[in-house]
Amino acid sequence: AEVLLTIHDVTKLVRMERMRADFVANASHELRTPLSSLLGFVETLMGPARDDAEARERFLPVMLEQGQRMQRLVEDLLSLSRIEMNEHSAPTDVVPIPDLVRRIANGLELKAEAKGCTLAVDLDPALPPVWGDADQLSQVFQNLLDNAVKYGRAGTPVTVTGGVVAQGPASMPGSRRGPCLHVAVRDHGEGIAREHLPRLTERFYRVDRARSRQMGGTGLGLAIAKHVLTRHRGALVPESMVGEGSTFNVYLPLASDTLAIAPPP
Ligand code: ADP
Repeated sequence: AEVLLTIHDVTKLVRMERMRADFVANASHELRTPLSSLLGFVETLMGPARDDAEARERFLPVMLEQGQRMQRLVEDLLSLSRIEMNEHSAPTDVVPIPDLVRRIANGLELKAEAKGCTLAVDLDPALPPVWGDADQLSQVFQNLLDNAVKYGRAGTPVTVTGGVVAQGPASMPGSRRGPCLHVAVRDHGEGIAREHLPRLTERFYRVDRARSRQMGGTGLGLAIAKHVLTRHRGALVPESMVGEGSTFNVYLPLASDTLAIAPPP
């Protein structure tokens, strides 16, 4: 069959192809750094430091950390590709968000405590459910809460609040912006300068590369969150004030708004 492409289509294809190539280059670079470091230590321990017990003591924890870093990256890359593969199918679980968020907050309690931070979830358990993929939505809130604890200032609270709003934000896909569940994850960290906000959900985009790395970040958490929310016909809206902190707003169409996502068969 004859296929007609407009200049617009071609431009779009070229741009997509460039993004794909960039992504592969970035992912390879992100993996290569810890891998080179790991191999460097192995060579040292097999060569000049073969009988050096003190070097072994010192290097092994660093090697473990580099291995774990690679593992996190590979897991996040796999998550992203899994999400992309089913991006066009509507999720079909009925997900009680307050429950899910509380469970994730409990899991982060120790990490928050270690920084002297409190994690307060103030969500009415009676909030209406959303159609969703429970595992994927868990990843969204896991990444947002983890970031809030990670980037929050020591000794400050992280809060999760929410409720039902009549309409989602303008960035929500589709013209059928009905009633939504709104959940806000707020921290009191350094905040994010305005010019970075639109780029935060790009893969491997970081405001401060060294800081993200030191915190064990992969640079993929918000990209994953955005993809999951797109699949749910929802939205992620970051807000921030430098010096005061950040709020990540999640919007999800309500299960009762059957126009937004088809209910399970
Ligand atoms: P990372 O693994 O680096 O945390 P993310 O995709 O989760 O990657 O976030 C991308 C970047 O956005 C981070 O590197 C950080 O610069 C910035 N960021 C995300 N959440 C926050 C936050 N709560 N406060 C300040 N900066 C944040």
